[in-house]
Amino acid sequence: MTARMTDQQWEAQNGSLSPNEANMRGLCWHCSGKGANWTAFGGVQRKVTCGVCLGDGKSRR
Ligand SMILES: [Zn+2]
Repeated sequence: MTARMTDQQWEAQNGSLSPNEANMRGLCWHCSGKGANWTAFGGVQRKVTCGVCLGDGKSRR
């Protein structure tokens, strides 16, 4: 059993880089190089593979 995170904690796992910062570092602008985006709504918490870099976190054009 894993500790349950609040929706806010769940979404805090998202990268915090701006698209420009991510680009300059060669990272995907959409997920800040994390390869996934975390979304939560009403206690339904999902980790979604990034559709831009397809999960590898690298910059795409
Ligand atoms: Zn990405």
